[in-house]
Amino acid sequence: MRREDHQERGPLWRAILEEQWRDQVEEVTELSLAYHGAADAAGGADDKRARRLLRRTIAARRRLADTEEALARLAAGDFGMCEQCGEPIPVTLLAAAPESRYCPDCAADALGMGTPHTAAPEFGGARIGHRR
Ligand SMILES: [Zn+2]
Repeated sequence: MRREDHQERGPLWRAILEEQWRDQVEEVTELSLAYHGAADAAGGADDKRARRLLRRTIAARRRLADTEEALARLAAGDFGMCEQCGEPIPVTLLAAAPESRYCPDCAADALGMGTPHTAAPEFGGARIGHRR
């Protein structure tokens, strides 16, 4: 079964995810510091640069949380399985984005139902011009 394939490669995924996690912790820390610095310098969080940094900080935190959830799934033995349909997520997709929770079909569905105004364009996986 392919489910076992993903689990057999568990140590590899763990190493990839842990490296990604470390990078993201660093990114969140740097962005948080930059945001507070900009907000302090401008005398408030209303500053345009501060707002932009805040948005980037929030997006980076979300990616960090996704990575932490993927590590939790790895520990639980659910890693690499689509949360929607339970099918294995293609290894090519996992290699590009190991924090993926859905197979390509379900991810496309989720985007279709999603709320466009909260979609973060800097998210690599969500860069699809799906709009109606
Ligand atoms: Zn699916």
